[in-house]
Amino acid sequence: MTCMRCQGLLVEIPSLFWVAPDWEAPPAKELQMPAWQCLNCGDYVDAVILAHRASPSLTVGQLV
Ligand SMILES: [Zn+2]
Repeated sequence: MTCMRCQGLLVEIPSLFWVAPDWEAPPAKELQMPAWQCLNCGDYVDAVILAHRASPSLTVGQLV
């Protein structure tokens, strides 16, 4: 799997490894989801982010 930003190497990491300043504990189900981080640019990707990117219909504009 390659980074969508820089085409660098993505390595799979445990979701819990990622602790952001605005960390909020996700539902238990999401804790089981795989996540990846780019070794080159540090970009973080997980199943939720991938789902959002794959669903362009879920835009704010359509909610207005
Ligand atoms: Zn990258």
